[in-house]
Amino acid sequence: MKAGLKKKIVKEIKVDISKCTGCRSCEMACSAFHAVPKYSSLNPSKARIRVYMDEIRDIYVPIRAGGYTQAECNGRNLYIINGKEYSECAFCPASCPSRDYFKEPSSGLPLKCDMCEDEPPLSEPMCVEACKFDALTYVEREETVAMEGTPLTEKQVELKAAYESLVKTHGRKKLMDVFSQLSKR
Ligand code: SF4
Ligand code: SF4
Repeated sequence: MKAGLKKKIVKEIKVDISKCTGCRSCEMACSAFHAVPKYSSLNPSKARIRVYMDEIRDIYVPIRAGGYTQAECNGRNLYIINGKEYSECAFCPASCPSRDYFKEPSSGLPLKCDMCEDEPPLSEPMCVEACKFDALTYVEREETVAMEGTPLTEKQVELKAAYESLVKTHGRKKLMDVFSQLSKR
């Protein structure tokens, strides 16, 4: 391999909307896996995947939680499925201040899919395992990428998003005061 390049495993979950029945097993499995303690509860409002449901047209779209955004975006995507237009935010994966999706219900902290990283690693993410209709399938592929500074891990990215959310809600100074008080305990 050329200097300055490295191999990276890219993990993907393929979504076949035509196979999704809207059973929401993926939401249940995700919430159970991320419950504290693990598997202690089933609560789809804590899942990092949500299924957009249009029951009249029999259209179900699983959406995994993406990044946290500090503000509602200016641009919009317009989706047309089977001739019907869907509202601009319907399939958005962001934890956004303008809506309640992908937020931990009690704390309001953003939720983001972490591909079920665990030790030892799972053979496939929980939502994929739970989907008995093959609407979700797991794929790993190798990519060659340029070396750079040490990238943040999924957990660090998640913590950073949680920190930014707290700063936005309480202000940096108040947060620093609390951290300072806690560190003296
Ligand atoms: S990969 Fe894991 S964390 Fe991500 S949506 Fe699926 S079950 Fe949830
Ligand atoms: S488990 Fe599969 S079929 Fe059921 S809602 Fe989720 S993606 Fe759709």
